[in-house]
Parts: sequence; structure tokens; C-alpha cells
Amino acid sequence: MSLKGGSFITGETDFKEVFLPEEWTEEQLMIRDMVRDFCLQEIHSLGIDKAAALDASKDLPFIVELLEKSAELGLCGLSIDKEYGGMDLDFNTGLLFGEAIAIGFSFATTIGAQTSIGSLPIVFYGTPEQKQKYLPGIASAKLKASYCLTEPGAGSDANSGKTKATLSADGKHYLLNGQKMWITNGGFADVFIVFAKIENDKDLSAFIVEKAFGGIQLGKEEKKLGIKGSSTVQVFFNNCPVPVENLLAKRGEGFKIALNILNTGRIKLAAGAIGGSKFAISRAVEYANQREQFNVPISSFGAMRYKIGEMVMRTFATESAIYRTGSNIDHKQAEFVKQGMDKSQAKLQAVREFAVECAILKVYGSDVLDYVVDEALQMHGGMGYAVETGIEMGYRDARITRIYEGTNEINRLLSVAELTRRALKTKEVDLIGAGKKLPGIFFNQLLPFKSTSGFDEERRIVRNVKAAFLLISGAAGNKLREKMVDEQEIVMNLADILAEAYIGESLLLRVQKLSEKSGYNREVLAVQRKLLQLFLHESLDKVRKAGFDAIASYATGVEKSVMNYLLKLLTPQYKVNPKELRRAVADYAIKKNAYPFIG
Ligand SMILES: Cc1cc2nc3c(=O)[nH]c(=O)nc-3n(C[C@H](O)[C@H](O)[C@H](O)COP(=O)(O)OP(=O)(O)OC[C@H]3O[C@@H](n4cnc5c(N)ncnc54)[C@H](O)[C@@H]3O)c2cc1C
Repeated sequence: MSLKGGSFITGETDFKEVFLPEEWTEEQLMIRDMVRDFCLQEIHSLGIDKAAALDASKDLPFIVELLEKSAELGLCGLSIDKEYGGMDLDFNTGLLFGEAIAIGFSFATTIGAQTSIGSLPIVFYGTPEQKQKYLPGIASAKLKASYCLTEPGAGSDANSGKTKATLSADGKHYLLNGQKMWITNGGFADVFIVFAKIENDKDLSAFIVEKAFGGIQLGKEEKKLGIKGSSTVQVFFNNCPVPVENLLAKRGEGFKIALNILNTGRIKLAAGAIGGSKFAISRAVEYANQREQFNVPISSFGAMRYKIGEMVMRTFATESAIYRTGSNIDHKQAEFVKQGMDKSQAKLQAVREFAVECAILKVYGSDVLDYVVDEALQMHGGMGYAVETGIEMGYRDARITRIYEGTNEINRLLSVAELTRRALKTKEVDLIGAGKKLPGIFFNQLLPFKSTSGFDEERRIVRNVKAAFLLISGAAGNKLREKMVDEQEIVMNLADILAEAYIGESLLLRVQKLSEKSGYNREVLAVQRKLLQLFLHESLDKVRKAGFDAIASYATGVEKSVMNYLLKLLTPQYKVNPKELRRAVADYAIKKNAYPFIG
């Protein structure tokens, strides 16, 4: 099994090696169901009007109570070691939790901050004393946690923060001064993970700060477009005294901590996004089946079936890549532990290994969610615009996923930058070696194609998408060299092709593996096969567009003509009928009256 992050782009993966959501164990599904039941009993039971009206500026006691109730079920200690009162779930089950809790609307953000960004810095970087002091309280929600990185002048450029930590005269405390912004759970947090610069350091350090230390003031709850039931405030530090033993890791390591925690958050966000997508699809299909116009259910109209087919296809494809990556992270962690690494360090390094995939998934997952909620709203017509269906809340809530945990622009840039670093600096991914094989692929494209087994054509398309990335990134990189970082438009094009390669391959591997599973329902498989073809059909269009844009952005004359020719060679028309494929997927969902696959 290839456990090298980013290496998917240089070779082929055996489908037998990937994990599928169809392989969840009974125990994992029980956890998922427990989380969903919690959301249904505690949040959905309020009625959609009340759930949609939840607002942190007036409902903090209820939100805090929800967090405490969820902790009684163990949900606040998912990633915390058992010795500190947690459940110590494997990474992939943690992602499944993220998917399931998404139906808890804005509460998903509240519990996400508690279990992820607010506590993982201590889980991964805390000393045994720090862990003992804080983690049991966070697991039981006696302590509520938050993460303070962003400042008014430091968002995407997080390391430029101005919050200062100055050592006190007696050397026992750091005095924190500064302002943090957009702090989730800030309105009720007891513990703040704060990033600040010690004296005139270049890089941030990280501190565990208790509200009880004093010198902390909170701003009013922000008035936001969505996730209104999630607390978001500014936090002001005025000579807040932080004991020196509350420095996390070493001085100057805060930025590294911040980035590594965000890697974890990115793939979790993607899992939440497909949880939200599945929920919205089910509501849209149910509505389309019962709403009649022109004397027939609106689900019988091709225009509606188009939307259903698309929504299901995009969600299923993204899901394939999320849990493939999650499982790879678990395997990588086990590999590191075998080599003698401490368990939590191993998990952290394993996530770090798959930073390229995590960035791709953050972007893809949030884009899919936004597409789905928009189309689900459209399918509800005027009712979609009304509060009572809950769809308008989903539409508003979803929008934040393209902004936090690193904006989608930053993550697009990051996916390509990180892959390039692994290729050129650490030499972990052999992009140059893969590039040398391109002439063979071009030559192969000139020969008549004969499919000899079931997935030959689909495999060829995925291989060609990867080749398109290698071709353009190699040629543009050679020409522009260090100027490439200033040509963000081209990097964005490359990021989009890279993402198509990873999501497309993950979907192909899933359907291939399902096709070999004895006893797997053939009717379902036939639909999933069509879904794969539809995905690849659309993927080729996106790759062509991004590829030609990139080429036209840096090449001219003969070079441009040759590059265009080669890209055309790699992305020929895929002879399928997209309408029929989309209808087949949609009809299956319509028949099931819900998102039709593993829910
Ligand atoms: C509801 C909510 C909850 C949040 N929760 C937290 C939290 O708990 N803790 C926390 O620390 N932060 C939190 N954030 C902050 C969030 O992470 C930031 O908003 C996000 O990182 C973007 O920073 P910014 O808002 O300053 O935007 P900016 O960085 O100013 O970005 C503005 C635009 O410029 C683009 N841009 C910026 N830099 C570049 C570049 N180099 N290249 C290309 N494009 C670029 C961005 O992609 C974006 O489109 C939260 C934000 C919101 C809205």
C-alpha cells in the first residue's frame, strides 16, 4: 500500500488497498447512529423554526447545555486518550462522527471547535501535566474550549499576528496583550488556545489560557450570515497573566502547531460537508416526490432530475476520497507507531503526511456542499426561501465552509505548493520520474484503444487526468520557475486538475472494489458505475478548461500549440450520454426517496 501523501498523482493504486464507506464496522455505525440520534432528539425535536432561530446572542445557556449533554455520551472526548477521559477513536471514525454531527446544524461548529481546534493542540503538543490538567475537563465539557489564531489584521496571513506575550519581571508569567477575532465558542469558553509572539519573535508561540487568569474581555456575539447558533466573538487580552508552564510546545512553534491543527480540521470539515450534503439531498428528493405541478411530481421533470443526479454524484465521489484518506492516515499512524513514535505524535505526523489530500478535500467538500444546498433550495421553489423548510438555514450555514479552516483560495494554493515541496525539497513524491513517463502515455493515446476488462476506459481517463497535471505543472514550472508563485491563476488551474485526479481516482477505486465484492447489490452497482462515468465526463470538461486556461496564461507560439495538442490528446471526448447517466442516478434516488447510498 502506498502511504506517501501526494503520491497518488505519480502512479496507480490497487483498488484492493482502499477503504470504502461500505466497510464500516457495526461499532462504527453504532457511533454514527448515536450521534445522529442525539441531533434528532436534542435539536430537530425543537422543530425547524426554533432550530433555525437559535442565536448565540440570546441562546448561549441552551448551546452550553447541548455541549454538556453531548459530553455525557462521550462525544466531546472523541480524539482524547482514554487515560484522560476520552474515547480515543481512530481517525476515520472521527471523520464519520464529523459527517454524522453535520445534521446538528450550527451545533456541529460548536462541538467541532471543542473536539478539534480547541483541544487538539493540547492532545498533540501538551506535556503530560498539561494533558492531565485540561483534557479530562474538555472531554466532560466541564471546560469549554476555543482556538484564538485570527486577528483583525491577520487572517490568511496568520503568522503576522500582533498579539504579544511578554515575560513578567519575576519570570513566572507571560503577560498577553492583543485582540483576536472570529473566535468560535469564545462567548462561553473557559480555555483559549492563544497564538501570540513572545517579545519580538518572528514566529508565533502557543499558550493555554484560562478565562480565570483574568485580563480577558469578550466582544459581543457577531451578527453573521449563518451558523447563528454558534458563538463567535472577539477576545481582548489586557495584561492577561499566563503561567510560563502554559506555553504549548517550544517558543516559536505556535505557527507550526496552528498549521498542523488546521490540516486535521480541513478533512474533518470535508466529512461534515458531505454529511450536510446527504441531508439536504434527502430533503430535496422527498420534497420533489411529493410536490406536484402540472399534475405530476416535480421529480419527474428532467430539470429536477438533472439536479438530483448531480448532487448525488458529487457527494458520493467526494465521500470516496474522504474515507480513503482517513484510512490512509490511520495506517500511516500505525506505521509510525511501529517505528517507535509516540501515539499522538504519530497521528499528527500521519495527518501532516496527507496535507495535500486534506487541502484538496477541504476545497472539494465545501464546494460540493455549497452546490448542493443551492440546488436543494432551488428545488423547493418559494418554499426554499421560507424559514419553515430549514433549507434556507442550510444555504446560509454552508457558506462559511469555504472561508474558515483556511479559505478555499489558500487551500488550492497550498495543495500545489505542498505537492511541489514534497517533490523538489523532500523528494518524497517523484514528480520528475512520473513526468519522464509522459511520452509513453502520449504514444499510447495515438494507438487505437481496445478495452479488455471492465474498467479499462475509466482507468485510462484517470491516468490521463494525472498526466495532464504532470504535463502542465512540469512545463509551466520549467518556464516560470520561482515566478510561478506570482502566477496564482495558473496555480489555481493546476489545483483544480489535481483535485479532479484525486477525487476521480478515489471514486473509480471505490466502484471497482464494489464490483468485486461478492454479494454486493448489482442494481446499486449499475447505478454507481453510471455515476462514475458521469463524474469522469464532467471531470474531463473541467480539466480541459483549466488546462487550456493555464497553457494560454504562460505559453505562446509553437510551445502553446504543442501543449494544446498534447492536452487534447489526453482529454478526448468521452463517448457517454450524460443525460441518461444523470437520469439513472437521479431515478434511483427518487425511487429511494432519499440520498440513495450509504447514508
Ligand atoms: C464564523 C467564523 C468562525 C471562525 N472561527 C475561528 C476560530 O474559532 N478561530 C480562529 O482563529 N479563526 C476563526 N475564524 C477566522 C477564519 O479562519 C478567517 O476568517 C479565515 O482564515 C480568513 O481570514 P480573513 O477573514 O482575515 O480573510 P483574508 O485573509 O483577509 O482573506 C480575504 C480574501 O483574500 C484572499 N486571500 C488572502 N490571502 C491570499 C493569498 N495569499 N493569495 C490569494 N488570496 C488570498 C482570501 O482567500 C479571501 O478570499 C472564523 C471565521 C468565521 C467567519
